[in-house]
This record gives sequence, structure tokens and C-alpha cells, in this order.
Amino acid sequence: MTEKPDLLGMTLEEAKTLAKDLGEAAFRGQQLYGWMQKGVPLEEMANLPASFRERLRTECIYRLPQIVQKQVSKVDGTIKYLVSMIDGECVESVFMRYAHGNVVCVSCQAGCRMGCAFCASTLRGRSRDLTAGEILGQVAVIGRDTGERIGGVVMMGIGEPLDNYENTVRFLHLVSKTEGLNIGLRHISVSTCGLVPQIYRLAEEGLPVTLSVSLHASDDGVRSKLMPVNKTYPIDSLLQACQYYFDKTGRRVSFEYTLIAGENDRLADAAALADRLRRTLRGPCHVNLILLNPVRETGLSAPRREGARAFCAYLEKRGISATIRRRLGSDIDASCGQLRRRHLEGLENRNLQEKS
Ligand code: SAH
Repeated sequence: MTEKPDLLGMTLEEAKTLAKDLGEAAFRGQQLYGWMQKGVPLEEMANLPASFRERLRTECIYRLPQIVQKQVSKVDGTIKYLVSMIDGECVESVFMRYAHGNVVCVSCQAGCRMGCAFCASTLRGRSRDLTAGEILGQVAVIGRDTGERIGGVVMMGIGEPLDNYENTVRFLHLVSKTEGLNIGLRHISVSTCGLVPQIYRLAEEGLPVTLSVSLHASDDGVRSKLMPVNKTYPIDSLLQACQYYFDKTGRRVSFEYTLIAGENDRLADAAALADRLRRTLRGPCHVNLILLNPVRETGLSAPRREGARAFCAYLEKRGISATIRRRLGSDIDASCGQLRRRHLEGLENRNLQEKS
């Protein structure tokens, strides 16, 4: 049995071809494409003939995510969404307002199998990859819900983008199309825990996105404890891949460093980080310091803010560009993975109650 065509994952040209294949004029495909980019459900695509919509419904798959839950920050207008895919898998997406424009954070997998010690998304492993259309759908649906222009995307939600490589790259192509959502590749960040072969591969795609590498430690022992991926791709191999990415794309690599009390937050750790980056990288880089958002099960806690400031100041003194990430939506808590987890726990409790 061949798979039904995935509507949201189509380019404009593909949508036109599909319309023709279904016996309609090509402009019907264009209308369909326009609606999809706006996150509109099939039944609301008012200018499409009912018969065409019916054929789309039965012969294709329209994987538009549904908003299940929404939390709006009173502090800064950040909106956290729990969205459901057509098979009921839920992921999180976030809408953030910055001075330079609105940014959406998308998820790329339902769950994650990377096993990082501090992260909520990986606690239950990975259920499945999201399709390119499902990743795009998150941006489209949030655009519709907020009614606002979205200028940037960060792939920093649930999942590891480079562990879902094909769909991630297809998504990057789709979301940056001028006839579509038209989000410039330079305004897109792909965050990775450090899958080295895929970093080399991404460098060859000709996509000038910002590569954001979750480093979190400059010592292999510490990093392997926090991030099991480091046992396969240790720090030197990772930094070499980052250097290659810079050489190929000319894009400054950005490092995420989550400060965890007693694990990686001493000034000696800052010194070791500065040494290691200086020694291995020739190109420019930037370090984004993040205060751990504590996840109960992990037993890890965040350092105090003054400690983070001193860490940041030290890096700057050593000539390494560094900032502490502003925490948006502090009143709606929930770092990525927590809403989904609570949702799954809720479902299980309901099932248990129904059984008893
Ligand atoms: N899989 C990608 C995207 C993960 S989420 C990656 O590993 O980069 C984006 C960032 O948030 C990553 O740097 C991740 O390590 C970090 N992160 C995950 N859980 C966190 C937590 N509880 N507190 C602070 N940062 C966290």
C-alpha cells in the first residue's frame, strides 16, 4: 500500500501537481497551499470546491496539529502550546516575543532518545519522529492563533533535530520558501546535542541556519555523565565538526551551556571551557548560558544567578562572547518536555481510574 500524500509537507509546485492529479486546475493547488501555510483546517478552506476538499480528506493526509492546551505569560506574552498530532501524540511549541520579532520554538520528535540527565523530554524516551509537515504545522498553527507575523524559528523544543535528519532538512526548506512562511534561514537555529556525522552532513546542505550546540561541559567525563551522546562523539570530535560547519557556512556557531549547581558551574569550569574553545576553534563562537530549569526526577538544581553572572563575566574577560539566556515566560514555568510529560501522566491516571 502506498502512503497517502502528506499535504502540509508539500511545496507550492507539489500542491499544484496534486490538484491537477485530482482533476482540478493548478490554481486550486495554490489556494490549498495558501490556506495550509495559514494553519487553516480543510473544512474552513472556503474557496475550495466541496468535492475537492472531500477528495483531499479521503485521499491525502493533512497533519495539522491541534492546540490542546495553551499557557500565556502575563510577564512577557510568551505562549506555551501543547499540540496534538493526528495520532494523538502531543508535543510542545512556544511563541516568544523579542525586540527583533516573534520567534516560534518547535518540537521535532514526540519524546527524545538522547538521554540527557537534566532534560524532561527524554524521561520517557522517543515515541516517534515528526514529519516535516508536522514541524511546519506548529509554526502555521501558532501564526493563525496569534495572528502575528513570525520572523524566526528555533528547533529547541522536544526531540533531537539531527536524529530526525531528513524531516528537519525538509522542514528547513519548506519554512523558508518565499511563497510560503518565508522565514529566512538566517533567522532559524537548529539545536543539537552533538550528533557529529549529521553536523558534517548539515554543513553540506547549503542552508545558512545557525547551529546551536548543546555543550554543557568542557570535560569529557562530566559531559558523558550529563549527555550519553558524548560517549560516542566526545568533545574534540564535536568541536572539530563545529569548526567545519563554520568553515563551510561562514555562520558563527553558538554553544548552549546549561549551568547546573555543583556539576559544571564553578569558575574553574568557565576557565576550562574558555581554554578548550580557544584551543580547538579558529572561527568565532558564542556561548549561551542557561540556568537549569530543574526537573524533579533528575535531582539536579540550578546555581544562583550571581554565580551565572560571574561565569559569564569570566568568559567575556577571556574574549569569548557570552550571554545569559533571558528566561521568557517565567510565570508559566515548564521548560520543554514538562507539559507533554504532565499530559501523559494525566492520561495514565485517567486510564488507571477507568480500570479500577
Ligand atoms: N535536542 C536538542 C534540543 C534540545 S532543547 C539539543 O540537545 O540541543 C534546547 C536546549 O535546552 C538544549 O541545550 C538542552 O540541553 C537544554 N535543556 C534541556 N532541558 C533543560 C533544562 N531542564 N534546563 C535547562 N536547559 C535545558
